[in-house]
Amino acid sequence: MTAPRMRPEPSIAHLDADAFFASVEQAQRPSLRGRPVLVGGTGPRGVVAAASYEARAEGVRSAMSMESARRACPRATVVVPRFDAYSAFSERIMSALRELTDAVEPLSIDEAFADLGALRPGPDGWPGVARALRERAVERAGVPVSVGMGRSKLVAKLASAAAKPAGVVVVAPDEEDAFLLPMRVRSLWGVGPVSAERLEKIGVRTVEDLRGQPLDTLTMVLGEAAGTNLFRVARGWDDRPVAETRERKSAGAEHTFERDLHGAEVAAQLPAVTHQAFARLERHGGAARTVTVKVRFAGFTTVSRSVTLPSPTADRAALREAAGRALDLVELTEPVRLLGVSFHGLSEHAQLMLDLAAPGAAPGAAPGAAPGTDAEPPAGTAAEPDDAGALRPVARRRRGRLRHEDAVPGLDVQHPEHGRGWIVRARDDGRVAIRFETAATGPGRQRVLDPATEPIELVGALGPDGQELPEAG
Ligand SMILES: [Mg+2]
Repeated sequence: MTAPRMRPEPSIAHLDADAFFASVEQAQRPSLRGRPVLVGGTGPRGVVAAASYEARAEGVRSAMSMESARRACPRATVVVPRFDAYSAFSERIMSALRELTDAVEPLSIDEAFADLGALRPGPDGWPGVARALRERAVERAGVPVSVGMGRSKLVAKLASAAAKPAGVVVVAPDEEDAFLLPMRVRSLWGVGPVSAERLEKIGVRTVEDLRGQPLDTLTMVLGEAAGTNLFRVARGWDDRPVAETRERKSAGAEHTFERDLHGAEVAAQLPAVTHQAFARLERHGGAARTVTVKVRFAGFTTVSRSVTLPSPTADRAALREAAGRALDLVELTEPVRLLGVSFHGLSEHAQLMLDLAAPGAAPGAAPGAAPGTDAEPPAGTAAEPDDAGALRPVARRRRGRLRHEDAVPGLDVQHPEHGRGWIVRARDDGRVAIRFETAATGPGRQRVLDPATEPIELVGALGPDGQELPEAG
């Protein structure tokens, strides 16, 4: 195997926000700055989607159960994710990249590659470019980000991880070995715990160890694809281009039928097509927010209908149900020759949110809920497990007069006298603790109010400019 032609300059950037969801919460809720914040499911099966650096310092990690995270860091504030706000901040971060180049490839809501090869670095060289990019993103979005640069995607991504938090690392080609070789193989892309264990058995712990292994040993231990890939990675061989993807990624499957289908026959084929689409979705993180069903009629007209869920989910039952609802929206006036199912608004983070979409997360209804351990009052997640209830990850209502059962920690509210605030917790006595503050007001006071007598409105999240975002979906 021969080395690919590598770029001569470290012109590939990887920009990644730090503790993104938690950082947005801290940006918008000044009382949370400098404090441990956990974003994730508040129900009994809740999982941490993001932990602020203050919470990480106490041992909390993403994907940990919320229960153990609370135990590790009892003083942490726990809030549910607000995807509307995160999407708006994400757009700002991405815009900082797009101002420099069209070659931007988002990887998830808060990270992207960019090919800056067309830029001419100033007197500070590529580190100057990286610092300017970082400052621009922070200025646009107001949340901390880190930037890594290298001559490949591989090195740029590892460099941004090394730059965290709020830093910049540029790996020049002649520094690449010094950067890569001491790294643990576990920190490499595509090395999971199973591969890491197999490699450990043959004495491979670092990239340097890896580089010492012949190709056929690696393919024998890890299989053809993974072995070949790691052989290349160990040498920093990576010439993949930055793929311009302006629109969000999607994943799906289509099926053209041998004969045209009529009426109920179409619905009968939906599970098979959805199943195929799931296999593709799996390769893109497994979770989606929007499900689109496409129908092509015998006369070749094509109709698409979509159902958007309140937030991304990996819950297959929920996605299947949404596909069914999307198909119901299509008027089957003609015989059908093609049926397609596709997923949009893909998210890797959403895999961690499965619990939020689970109907079993209703207060008292969860099989795993230990009685008497309810330190936080039932958060009202999917409080009414009925038809659409299973698809509602956060509160059923996100606009209108607040009821105690809708008072999920982290949701935005408005009060005519106290202004804008966010729900800290619903108390057992029927009242709700609310902190009234925005990025513009500075840290605000917490008040305990009774939603039965006080005019508290559930309102939409604010964007990075402090303007209210339109209702999603
Ligand atoms: Mg990030």
